[in-house]
Amino acid sequence: MGEFYNLDKNECLKILNTNINGLKESEAQNRLLKNGKNIIFTEKKKNYFLMFLKQFLNVMTIVLFCAGVISTIFAIIEKSSSEAINAGIIFFIVLLNGVIGFVQEFKAEKSLQNIKKLSFNEAKVLREGVLKRINNENVVIGDVIFLEAGDIVPADVRIIENVHLKIDESSLTGESNPVEKSDKLISNKTPLADRSNMAFKGCNVTSGRGVGVVVKIGMETEIGKIAKLLNNNNQNQQTPIQRSLKKLGLILTFIATAIALTIFIIEFTKPNASVLNAFMIAIAIAVAAIPESLPAIVTIIMAIGVSKLAKKGAIVKNLSSVETLGCCEIICSDKTGTLTENKMKLESIYYNNKIYNKIYNKKLLKKSKELDFCFKIMSLCNTCVVQGENVVGDPTEVALCDFALKNNYNKEELLKKYKLIDELPFDSKRKLMTTISSNGGKNISFTKGGIEEVLNKCKHIMINEKKEKLTPTKRKDILKVADKFARRSLRVLGLAFGYNQEEDLIFVGLVGIIDPPRKEAFKAVKACFESGMKPIMITGDHKETAFNIAKQLGIAYSKKQVLQGVELDKLSDKQFLKIIKDIKVFARVTPENKDRIVKAYKKIGKIVAMTGDGVNDAPCIKSADIGIGMGITGTDISKEAADIVLSDDNFATIILAVKEGRIIYKNIEKTVKFLLSANGSEMLSILIISIIFPNFAFLLPIHILFINLITDSLPSIALGFEPPESNIMKIQPRDSNKHLLSGLNGVFVVFFSIVQALIIISVYIIGIKFFGKNSAVTMAFYTFNIVQIFYIMSARTENYFFKNNLFKNKMLIISLFISAVILLIIAVTPLNQILFLTDLSFKEWFICFGLSFSIFPISELYKFITNFLSKKVEKNK
Ligand code: ADP
Ligand code: MG
Repeated sequence: MGEFYNLDKNECLKILNTNINGLKESEAQNRLLKNGKNIIFTEKKKNYFLMFLKQFLNVMTIVLFCAGVISTIFAIIEKSSSEAINAGIIFFIVLLNGVIGFVQEFKAEKSLQNIKKLSFNEAKVLREGVLKRINNENVVIGDVIFLEAGDIVPADVRIIENVHLKIDESSLTGESNPVEKSDKLISNKTPLADRSNMAFKGCNVTSGRGVGVVVKIGMETEIGKIAKLLNNNNQNQQTPIQRSLKKLGLILTFIATAIALTIFIIEFTKPNASVLNAFMIAIAIAVAAIPESLPAIVTIIMAIGVSKLAKKGAIVKNLSSVETLGCCEIICSDKTGTLTENKMKLESIYYNNKIYNKIYNKKLLKKSKELDFCFKIMSLCNTCVVQGENVVGDPTEVALCDFALKNNYNKEELLKKYKLIDELPFDSKRKLMTTISSNGGKNISFTKGGIEEVLNKCKHIMINEKKEKLTPTKRKDILKVADKFARRSLRVLGLAFGYNQEEDLIFVGLVGIIDPPRKEAFKAVKACFESGMKPIMITGDHKETAFNIAKQLGIAYSKKQVLQGVELDKLSDKQFLKIIKDIKVFARVTPENKDRIVKAYKKIGKIVAMTGDGVNDAPCIKSADIGIGMGITGTDISKEAADIVLSDDNFATIILAVKEGRIIYKNIEKTVKFLLSANGSEMLSILIISIIFPNFAFLLPIHILFINLITDSLPSIALGFEPPESNIMKIQPRDSNKHLLSGLNGVFVVFFSIVQALIIISVYIIGIKFFGKNSAVTMAFYTFNIVQIFYIMSARTENYFFKNNLFKNKMLIISLFISAVILLIIAVTPLNQILFLTDLSFKEWFICFGLSFSIFPISELYKFITNFLSKKVEKNK
């Protein structure tokens, strides 16, 4: 298809076989089937074969592979069948490890992809004359779409109606200033950057609004054409924990290699040493020490958590924020729509010196000229669309437009008499909106907005059907009424009209809109305080309105805790930082204020979450540690900037997300502690045994592999499903600067590495003393496995075993059952010979179980002591 900028708009519509009312739904579906979805493919398909091969490219696998090869060589030289079996098992386990690693990574990858697929960007299309919100992907050529400030253009569009539309095309042309658009035809061969009657996919609408017809979609669009050139910046960024675990893995690999080498040399230099034995010990140590499955398990736990969060209404776009959530200390939340319901109703009106209350279902019959103007402003000064009985658009405007409609002021009808010729759009900085209509050859403008802002533009007031001067006394009276409204938690707007755009306006009235707090918000605010976080309300509304809602919700109790945007502007950074701790509500703020607020909290070392929905909220969302977008009312631009998007716009969902973030972190912490202490105990026991019993057989690499594979990885994934500790939302946020293994966690790993190693060594020594070498190795092997089972039953919770029902975590039960069954199979089938194990007598089993079980009371005692100590520390604070 050719270009469209050089064609008349009607011709464009004709060529595209569409019209100003949009396509028929059935035709749109046909086109969707025929032309495909409006998607840009930038990601290369994952090569799963390569992903599989990658599993074998790590130190451990290479070491194991070498072990296998050496075993094979020995098997051939010495014609030893047992050595051949050993080699076979090593290769088998290497393969199995690779397969398991692949499956884990595949699963993690899949769930991450699913998360990425969740698309929030919706286009506003007109189909058969009805305005619909549809997923960007389903936009087809010929669709008539609405564009307004905050949108990201869904496809390449020829503009057919334009109201001060300005678009930021920097992603396409590099031009950083927003470009003004028009709906006029332009000449042939105009370069892309100057095609002012086109809007291009992926560009941000920064102000104004317009209507356009879609001319190109998907890969055909301008951005689609260069998408292949854009290097797909690595989306699979690792989170801080993943990065630090990777580092830890490297360090452990290094240490393990060093120890393994030392052991090898010591063993090797002993008189009548067996090279093979020395080699096998060294390899066993390396295998024991390297936590090879840790990164995959952590990713899986995060992915599980993220999909859980999605079900609860918080879509995580940036995986790192899952971790940051658990550290969140300050939650800056918009008032309107997040803490309140955003179902606005007109509650009070003031005109001609009189207040009328509880008007939302009433008809105001006694018509006066003032009221007539009020209704016209309510009806015409907005961007709402009237569809039959319904009014669609911004909730504040809908409240007004709908009220006018119920009083027989139908916008669509009025527009015939008052032809819209221009519009000065609302933005949260100006806090004003004006439409200009032509009525009988004369222009008239209607303005609504924040009361001070409107009054600042007014020189007159209409009283008793006459225009009078707006004296300072009258001004004060109006402000008093506004204050009265605000004290009743009403959102206040002034109404005015004039004949010269926004100058010399005539004030006619004042409205108060009710927007009650969300029911869930009360509990959520309480939970917020209990869990050591501070909720902060941010709003463009009046001080009184904001304070009253904040007071109802329990966010603030004194007006001293409210700071207004203008007051903030007067403060220096230093002064602001001094008082910021005492502020709970920021009222009358601009988007710039919001950004400053976030940065100030960060400066005093707090981890801040910030919600935002407007066009200009992207900077503050980006500055925040956790930027939160609004799924329903948020603009595309703000959602794009966010780390997390709330699908229900609800403050309570933020608290749920924080809780889930804390649970995810806790479970990762438990898993890491469990796995590292298991690995530590393996390494320690091999090391110690090989020192005190030189030339004695102990666990072979294949045994360690088995333990890692069977009893470690399964149950430790199951730890990701562990239900939260009962106090998870009663404790302070985690310190974001602390490493996962610092403090008590590090002590934990070291302590339980030692305890488990001691248990295994004791069993081995008892075995050697009373039952002979062969039994001793077998006993040590089983003890290793059984210890893990008892240990995880206790280590899964920080609470005492009996206080936290084991059966709540079904995954853990299942995985422990599987581990036990596998052990049983080994014990009773010939498999034990293949693994160089012998049959154990009842006495021997009893010793294995008895000593293994001792880990359980030790672990419970450990909890008791640490709980006791930490309580003491807290008291001393
Ligand atoms: P918030 O989103 O925090 O409620 P806004 O910036 O939307 O804050 O609104 C601030 C003030 O601007 C409101 O108290 C109201 O007086 C005015 N206002 C809000 N929406 C509109 C609108 N669509 N047109 C004109 N004025 C508005
Ligand atoms: Mg708003």
